[in-house]
Amino acid sequence: MNHVSKIGIMGGTFDPIHYGHLVSAEGARDEVGLDQVIFVPTGRPPHKSNYNITNSQDRYLMTVLATASNHYFHASSMEVDRPGFSYTIDTVQSVVEMYPGAQIYFITGADAVLDILTWKSVEQLLSLCYIIAVTRPSYQLDKLWDRLGHILHCPKRRIISMEVPALAISSTDIRRRVREGMTIKYLLPEPVEDYIAKHKLYKQ
Ligand code: NAP
Repeated sequence: MNHVSKIGIMGGTFDPIHYGHLVSAEGARDEVGLDQVIFVPTGRPPHKSNYNITNSQDRYLMTVLATASNHYFHASSMEVDRPGFSYTIDTVQSVVEMYPGAQIYFITGADAVLDILTWKSVEQLLSLCYIIAVTRPSYQLDKLWDRLGHILHCPKRRIISMEVPALAISSTDIRRRVREGMTIKYLLPEPVEDYIAKHKLYKQ
């Protein structure tokens, strides 16, 4: 029997990428048996026009540094390079074209998945890939199923949840720590920590 390849797409703003993201991707890879995980930092998020996010090149380069040591991980600049807003449907369609016949798993934070009904071409998206919603400890999963189970005619089985204790780490907290002069050691890979210091990110 032919092996059907399973490709994970790890989507996020990654501002900055941290161990919670890496542990989530590795956990999903192990649990689902993914052949590889492609980390795709968002270029221009459609839902964050008022939020001052870090330059996409910096976020992409930090993602490259963070994923370099894992044989199964790759970083892609496809959203960073694509003009206009970054829509997940476009990313998933590109990966489907790159890997015909593969099963695609889009991995991201459960809070982002909560809003999936507002995403572009959501029904088509759910027909092309599985969604892995990773949650922080003590996340109330009912929230997710209440919202997605009723409103959408989407079979629940295409959305999988996965609790990741390491997601107690958050990008928001890391940005705050840098701003307040606190240590971020052991919250993210050292090369990313060095990149943040060298480029004076998150100082204000
Ligand atoms: P977000 O609002 O910045 O994050 C929501 C929550 O999820 C945060 O707590 C965040 O924690 C966590 N999170 C985000 N990405 C994660 C990941 N890969 N693994 C674990 N936790 C994660 O969400 P976002 O980063 O902007 O969007 C997430 C993904 O959804 C992106 O790929 C984005 O392009 C996609 N999206 C698509 C559309 C659309 O197609 N219309 C709309 C919205 C979002 P941290 O801050 O610690 O990461």
